[in-house]
Amino acid sequence: MSKQEAVSELTKQQAQAELTPLREQLKKWGAEYYEQDNPSVEDYVYDRAYQRLVEIEQRFPDLVVPDSPTQRVGGAAESQLNKVIHEIPMLSMGDVFSPAELADFNRRQQDNSDVKVDFDYNLELKIDGLSLSLVYENGRLVQGSTRGNGTIGEDVTENVKTIKSIPQVLPEPLSLEFRGECYMPKEAFVKLNERREAEGQPVFANPRNAAAGSLRQLDPKVTAARQLDTFMYYVPDYQALGVTTQAQALEKMRALGFAVNPNYRVVHSQAELTAYIEEYTKKRDQLPYGIDGIVEKVNDLATQVALGNTVKVPRWEIAYKFPPEEQATVVRDIEWTVGRTGNVTPTAVMDPVQLAGTTVSRASLHNPDYLVEKDIRLGDTVLLHKAGDIIPEISRVIIEKRPADSKPYEVPTTCPECGADLVHLDDEVALRCVNPMCPAQIKEGLAHFASRNAMNIDGLGPKIIEQLWDKGMVKDVADLYRLEAAQLLTLPKFGEKSISNLLTAIANSRHNSCERLLFGLGIRHVGAKVAHLLAAEFKSVDALMAADAATISAVDSIGPIIGDAVATYFQNEQVHQLIAELKEVGVNMDYLAPTTSATESAEWAGKRVVLTGKLTKMTRGQAQEWLSARGASVTGSVSKKTDLLIAGEKAGSKLEKAQTLGIEVWDEDRFDQAMKEEN
Ligand code: NAD
Repeated sequence: MSKQEAVSELTKQQAQAELTPLREQLKKWGAEYYEQDNPSVEDYVYDRAYQRLVEIEQRFPDLVVPDSPTQRVGGAAESQLNKVIHEIPMLSMGDVFSPAELADFNRRQQDNSDVKVDFDYNLELKIDGLSLSLVYENGRLVQGSTRGNGTIGEDVTENVKTIKSIPQVLPEPLSLEFRGECYMPKEAFVKLNERREAEGQPVFANPRNAAAGSLRQLDPKVTAARQLDTFMYYVPDYQALGVTTQAQALEKMRALGFAVNPNYRVVHSQAELTAYIEEYTKKRDQLPYGIDGIVEKVNDLATQVALGNTVKVPRWEIAYKFPPEEQATVVRDIEWTVGRTGNVTPTAVMDPVQLAGTTVSRASLHNPDYLVEKDIRLGDTVLLHKAGDIIPEISRVIIEKRPADSKPYEVPTTCPECGADLVHLDDEVALRCVNPMCPAQIKEGLAHFASRNAMNIDGLGPKIIEQLWDKGMVKDVADLYRLEAAQLLTLPKFGEKSISNLLTAIANSRHNSCERLLFGLGIRHVGAKVAHLLAAEFKSVDALMAADAATISAVDSIGPIIGDAVATYFQNEQVHQLIAELKEVGVNMDYLAPTTSATESAEWAGKRVVLTGKLTKMTRGQAQEWLSARGASVTGSVSKKTDLLIAGEKAGSKLEKAQTLGIEVWDEDRFDQAMKEEN
């Protein structure tokens, strides 16, 4: 941008010459972002180019054309989903990039001679998701749709019905449209990308794209598995709702059972406005969902209507966009780690820098294609940001700072752990080590086998596995059951008590119901839930081994991908041998009572649980998975409907709120105890 002529200096001819490629570029980025849910540039890069287009068109209004990105709501209803017409268009929103610009906007709005506008604004968080329209008839949800191009959206009714925060029936027989934002909570986004990375699938660039990709697709089961959430914020026909201000509309929606973001505030002065912006610029990193700015809305709804809209944006609201948080640092190394499934992942190791509240020195590069595309080299100075406010990610290389003797980074062709050739499997971006004897994979596999949702062998963590491996005591999961106290005594820092505990935990795991074993074996596409479905259907590992892909695929909720993966796994001679060994050492191969496994339990089913603070005995993800597997619904905020708050260390406002509302609160120890009792 710096080399570009200032807009005020452009001749009309120069402006004309610049406009066509600029609009084409914005349209291409817009299609990647809105239609493919896969942007190739950061939002602020798009915003900067868009801003330049606005400025040029403002200076030369006769050069504006109807299909310029400034005249159209971005996006198109291009997927295979059915189309929906929005009789009241779903618009985009104007934006400003500094508090000073926002103050200017307000001044101009209040000086408007046609409509009297008071300093009475409702401020809301700008949720980083995609807009959603919900239509109710006589209080029943009849349609959910996306914004599309503003006039034609996509019908996502069946998908929307799987989102827990959306009421299917309202307490009043209203026939009304409600609008809001569909988003993916940060934690769900992190987990989804971790899973996709492990499966060799491309990762989503940010929670917004992950939410859009999860909603704008044909299979409601996919949406259901993605843990989408919503915040509703707009009712076009406010009179039918019986409210007169935006703040009242929000409260009314909450009373109707919608999820409404609680952090809105009505302000009456510049000082209050500035304080809100400052407050949420600071709090932003701690929110469980991504926000990319603050939305300011004229609070009085009749005034909103009087102000009306331009072709693209309402005149009564504006977005203040947060500045991008970026830091420059130098790449010192690229480490390659081998996962349980042989997936080899590069990580950039950089000089530590402070970024959005934490010190960052590592960033995943996901897969070799990503590394090559960004042309990241050792010694490069790079710009770092946090994708979706959470995950450190390299935005780009600062080419001007590249050392003169720099060479393109060479992606390894052999496994860093075992030296076997690395391969690309069909349709995967990942590079894989397919050597089943690769030590890194076996160690990861052992840790997975022992994990809580698998065989649940307490005390068998990665460090001990490393030692057992190094001493040659364990080569596969069956060896765990052959361990003896005398051997373990030779391990450093391993006392009699811990040895006895570990051996007891191993011995107990022999009696698990077989879905734990099925999950623990690490079969591709078989998570804890699928393992349970298979175990419940086939009743034993032997019966499952004897089934062909078609029979497995026919099981409710399974399908051909999992069917093929399971059948292929059990065709392997080495697997047969492993199962035979596991039988020999006494591991149970049958399906037992459903309550002994990761499945719904009477204690937890239907309970609304909130997790807060830092957990030390488990990750948030593990706690959440455990609760969800038992039928509890884990929600992000405390409300009257919450049944239980689990508070880790340094729990803050949620704990206070739960105490105020008289909601039961457990500390982590109590929860850990409950987990042990239930398992
Ligand atoms: P927008 O997403 O910036 O703002 C409008 C949207 O904000 C509304 O449609 C609504 O869905 C949402 N919103 C969230 N919280 C809200 C609240 N509390 N009240 C009202 N609305 C709320 O506008 P847009 O036109 O959808 O998209 C433009 C933006 O998308 C650009 O500024 C850019 O950041 C991004 N974009 C990026 C690329 C890229 O390639 N990276 C391409 C195109 C667009």
